[in-house]
Amino acid sequence: RLSKRLEKVASFITQGVQFADIGSDHAHLPCYVCLHDEDAYAIAGEVNEGPFRSARENISRHGLSDRVDVRLGDGLQVLQNGEVALIVIAGMGGSLIKTILDEGKDRLSNVEKIIAQPNIGEHNVRRWLYSHGYEVTNEVMVAENGHIYEIIVGDKRADGQKLTEKQLLFGPHLLNQKPKLFYQKWTHEYDNRKRTVEQMKNAKSPDDKKIAAFTEELTWIGEVLG
Ligand code: SAM
Repeated sequence: RLSKRLEKVASFITQGVQFADIGSDHAHLPCYVCLHDEDAYAIAGEVNEGPFRSARENISRHGLSDRVDVRLGDGLQVLQNGEVALIVIAGMGGSLIKTILDEGKDRLSNVEKIIAQPNIGEHNVRRWLYSHGYEVTNEVMVAENGHIYEIIVGDKRADGQKLTEKQLLFGPHLLNQKPKLFYQKWTHEYDNRKRTVEQMKNAKSPDDKKIAAFTEELTWIGEVLG
């Protein structure tokens, strides 16, 4: 069974698309998508030998070797430019996702949709998307195993809108809709950051700039929680 988190990611994948799942681990996502959509075709990218091998075994066990192509390599380097229309990068930190996208910019010319599920540091992903011609068109939150995950969907747009610092942090759609999980996540984050600011203030040589930035975020969080 696919995790609730990856099931939600899968729900944003266009029918019949040729897509890449970067950092695919056991290739659970591409197998699930191809088993449910006979017109889909996937490339599973993995940088580590262990997961690469389990991905290959999993794909072959599902009889999908002709529709899920597993490739060993770093980030988007496993792709030819123009090969896929959609990319998924899930289950990593937002800054790693940003680095993978940055280093693979030359592989994106046909990529219309990017689905990212950063575990932390979501703002890095949103900033990358809007500054590279992708508009954040959808965002959802999923709770699983005691963690609240954000799934961010970017669609290529000629005239995507610029996001404010506040929208980058909370997500433009999540900020509008404020689902139940939004309150749960940000109440928890508020307490965490408050503790962090206290610790920073008590440090031997406090970093005033960092303290100011954290304090500003705390104010924003307080405001959005109302
Ligand atoms: N995407 C799956 C998910 O969401 O459940 C697996 C997430 S797993 C925590 C992260 C995977 O990304 C690991 O298998 C790791 O080897 C792989 N990975 C990390 N950096 C990578 C990179 N630069 N290129 C490709 N794969 C990478």
